[in-house]
Amino acid sequence: MTPRPDFPNHASVVVIGGGVMGCSTLYHLAKMGVTDAVLVERNELTSGTTWHSAAQVRALRSTKNMTGLIRYSIDLYQSLEAETGQATGWIQKGSLSIATTPERMVHIRRQEALAHLFGVRAQSVSAAQALERWPLMNADDVLGAVWSPDDGRVSPSDLCAALVKGAKAKGARIFENTGVTGIITDGGKITGLETTLGPIRTDAIALCTGLWSRDGAAMAGVSVPVWPCEHYYLLTRPVDGITGNMPTLSDHDQHLYIRDDSGGLLVGCFEPMGKAISPGTLGENFAFQLLPEDWDHFEPMMVNALNRLPALETAEVKTLLNGPESFTPDGSFVLGEAAETRGLFLGCGMNSVGIATGGGAGMALAKCIVDGHLPMDLHEVDPARFPACWNDAAALAARVPEVLGKHYEITYPGRQWSTARHLRATPLDAAWRAAGAHFGQFHGWERPLYFGAAGEPDLGFGRPAWHDAVGAEVMQAHERAALFDQSTFGKIRVEGPDAATFLNRVCANDMTRAPGHAVYSAMLNSRGGMESDLTALRFDAVTYRLYVGTAAIKRDLAWLRRHLRSDERVAITDETDRWAVIGLMGPDAADIAGAAGARELNALGYFRHGPAMIAGVHVDAARLSYVGEAGWEITCPAADAGKVYAALYDAGARPAGVFAQSAMRMEKRFLAYGHDLDTDTDPLMAGLEFAVAWDTDFIGRDALLKKRDRPPGETMVTLLLDNREAWPLGNEPVYAAGKIIGKTTSAAFGYRIRRPVALAYVNEAADGMRVAIDIARELHAATVSLAAAYDPQGTRMRPRNS
Ligand SMILES: Cc1cc2nc3c(=O)[nH]c(=O)nc-3n(C[C@H](O)[C@H](O)[C@H](O)COP(=O)(O)OP(=O)(O)OC[C@H]3O[C@@H](n4cnc5c(N)ncnc54)[C@H](O)[C@@H]3O)c2cc1C
Repeated sequence: MTPRPDFPNHASVVVIGGGVMGCSTLYHLAKMGVTDAVLVERNELTSGTTWHSAAQVRALRSTKNMTGLIRYSIDLYQSLEAETGQATGWIQKGSLSIATTPERMVHIRRQEALAHLFGVRAQSVSAAQALERWPLMNADDVLGAVWSPDDGRVSPSDLCAALVKGAKAKGARIFENTGVTGIITDGGKITGLETTLGPIRTDAIALCTGLWSRDGAAMAGVSVPVWPCEHYYLLTRPVDGITGNMPTLSDHDQHLYIRDDSGGLLVGCFEPMGKAISPGTLGENFAFQLLPEDWDHFEPMMVNALNRLPALETAEVKTLLNGPESFTPDGSFVLGEAAETRGLFLGCGMNSVGIATGGGAGMALAKCIVDGHLPMDLHEVDPARFPACWNDAAALAARVPEVLGKHYEITYPGRQWSTARHLRATPLDAAWRAAGAHFGQFHGWERPLYFGAAGEPDLGFGRPAWHDAVGAEVMQAHERAALFDQSTFGKIRVEGPDAATFLNRVCANDMTRAPGHAVYSAMLNSRGGMESDLTALRFDAVTYRLYVGTAAIKRDLAWLRRHLRSDERVAITDETDRWAVIGLMGPDAADIAGAAGARELNALGYFRHGPAMIAGVHVDAARLSYVGEAGWEITCPAADAGKVYAALYDAGARPAGVFAQSAMRMEKRFLAYGHDLDTDTDPLMAGLEFAVAWDTDFIGRDALLKKRDRPPGETMVTLLLDNREAWPLGNEPVYAAGKIIGKTTSAAFGYRIRRPVALAYVNEAADGMRVAIDIARELHAATVSLAAAYDPQGTRMRPRNS
């Protein structure tokens, strides 16, 4: 180690990694007043993935906030030169996405609708108009396109130079050729790090180490499932017909993106199945390096490119660039504070959108460090969303090639992953297989989506192939009784003399109700936003079990533990794998429970729970329902789930899957976290005030009180569509009097009401108001209901033996 007198032994924040994410985070920290922030990079700035990026910036993403990050980037990349004197190489020539299949046309029209919802300029153009914008393209098979004028591209190295210049001007310091060799924690918190130039004390680290982040995070005891994959683009020497900068041309049906580059062509691809990179290939000295060309792998893409760009036939190839990029199991990056270790902030696993998102993501990460939370809801990139099973090298290496391949695939409803499956089985897995389940993977679990004919169905935007099968399951629950597997809920035991006081502080509802009660509640942040929703069962004076969302377990555990005061005598334990949960729902539920030996359950009131015996197994049943049919959620030891299931099945109940459950919960207006609820929503706008005990002193109460006093803004409503053959999916604009007044958050066919139903947040809400939902640029009339679409007089069971 060469000592450097200027190397600090303390910094408020240390950023590790000098790619676009590290440089942007440092810049924003400095702008936010963290003027002693330090960036350490073990090689040179941009030497990882950033330097060889194709660096396109396309704004539209699947949510408003993710799109907002890129819109922020665009503004920043345009304005940095004026601020720093260093150009970023920003070229705003727009982007053109062509469609060559009818299904892709639907997809791009849905994208266009989404763009309007998010305030991004986008416009459908004909094949002829597309050709005018890209005259070198063969447009014979083009059906239409979407034109987005605000998109562009940047020079990644110049961008980082500008960010760094801006950061340095505010006091930030950068140390290249300085590797981080260890991260120091104490009591689950960051206290410092070891570098090749010596240690630095700090309580905040921004880990922006790209494809090396899994190893980097492991130094702090944190699991970050990112894995590298090869990523290709072809560069040619100048080509006739390219006279200046052109828009980016996206031909997603052929897996291609195309743009000009120094008078030649740049043709990049997201081939259907990428190539994962073996560990060890990309050591710590992998700086400004590339991977070997693989023409055999690229050949099918070359064939596609030759068809789309006949000029390529005679173009001289400069290089087939093969660079590494990091991917995650679900195709979204990782941003925010780690659940396991306080003070470790993650900005990595960028899934090929690091340049586009880098500006906004660096801003959001810096805000997270400074303010203690992200500036907006970004749950799709929450570091806590991955279960432990995803940090497995074999699973990651199997999944990431498919993640790369799906980057340009149409996101059909019901689309599933085909790689790295069967990571987690529910306790009823064998029963579901025997019953002919079609499975979907969620949070690593295999869950039965629906039951029915063999073979995987074709996907599409219209009436799904499983429509009738799901309908039959809904009717089973509605007219008789169905069994739902709810075992994937996160289950958290909260126990101790101070459990009630503690829960009453972190939850908005009254958690002090007597043992035997079930309570639906929300955990709010100090801004009144919903961090989680949960159901709590109280067993005795000191013991509760919380049931939280399947994907929420890691995040909710961290939230609870972080809000526990050191003087509170409470133990918080993850019991997810210990228990199975079987939903027995429908009018025959009472008979069935009775026949299975649990007659005592009939005495339980609504939102009460109690013990019973089924098939010789001690269970606890809670009288509540997520589907709008009366029944119980029955919890039993995981090992005994098969016995309980068999007894209920023998007594007449039949299995139903996740699709039936989702459709039913939307009819009944039961909200789902991640769809209808997130940290930007609050219980008031969501219509959940019944779950707020104003007379208790819960976290977020002050902020919520202020919201209550303001005029209502967005409100959750039900929309009933006129057209029974419309297929809303959620995330569609809602129009009234020609202007957008809101957006759908969930949608399904409501089998009990025999029409499509959507849940939506709208700015104007009146019962019976007529609105229109934009589904792929077609307006579908709908009626607003302030109530649930399906709310039977009695979600009651038939009296026994009726
Ligand atoms: C061929 C190709 C084309 C692409 N095209 C686009 C595109 O068009 N648009 C787009 O938005 N994105 C694109 N991307 C993706 C984009 O380039 C990346 O997402 C982005 O550059 C990642 O930036 P990063 O800062 O996360 O990682 P990196 O740039 O890899 O930076 C991480 C840095 O961390 C350093 N580091 C690691 N470990 C340590 C340690 N222990 N101590 C100190 N330093 C450490 C590394 O040396 C490295 O410099 C493309 C990627 C490829 C490969």
